[in-house]
Amino acid sequence: MNCGLDGYQPSEAVLETRRRLAHSVCGRDLPLAILRQVHSDDVFKASRSMLSDPPRGDGWVAGQPELLVAIQTADCLPVLLADPVQRVVAAVHAGWRGTLLGIAPKAVRVMQTEFGSRPSDCLAIVGPAIRKCCYEVGEEVVEAFSKQFEHASDLFGEPPRGKATRSRSRCLDLPEACRRQLLDAGIAVENVFAGGPCTACEKDRFFSHRAEAGQTGRMMSMIGMVEEK
Ligand SMILES: [Zn+2]
Repeated sequence: MNCGLDGYQPSEAVLETRRRLAHSVCGRDLPLAILRQVHSDDVFKASRSMLSDPPRGDGWVAGQPELLVAIQTADCLPVLLADPVQRVVAAVHAGWRGTLLGIAPKAVRVMQTEFGSRPSDCLAIVGPAIRKCCYEVGEEVVEAFSKQFEHASDLFGEPPRGKATRSRSRCLDLPEACRRQLLDAGIAVENVFAGGPCTACEKDRFFSHRAEAGQTGRMMSMIGMVEEK
């Protein structure tokens, strides 16, 4: 189901898809907070008052119930966070730029400072994204990750034989880079779920910007809380 308003499908159809998807989360029409994503590390505290004019950024943190926070992806990492103790959730969009900027651990810090979350109470899931099998990157990206990540060589592999599109390229394990950041932020290893499928390998099931040469839709990942009874 395409959730992106970028001309891939008529907007009326996309808005109806978004509404149905949001409805399916908890069986009623909750408001949906959707960012203007820009590959930044900007994380916002979501509130209903922001719905009509959402900010430019790539992460939402929400402590309000009855509100769904959402991000859109087509290869980039959708990261959802939940703290069931303080009742806080977050949705983060992280491509290679956002990962280098540390947007996922930044969202964890916002949960800590704004809502008193303890990382050890938090759960994190990295949804379907392009993986090491398919994510060829140039040497400038390899260099940037190598500077920032300890044991960065573990994050890279050789492009499949005959598939490299440029010299000195490597294949990047972006979900693993994000998983390590979440562990460094204090989330317990058993609470980080990052073993999902590859969007480019499975472009019949998922939208993949890379595998479909930009002519594709967007998936939407969302999370929220219902009012406590
Ligand atoms: Zn793949």
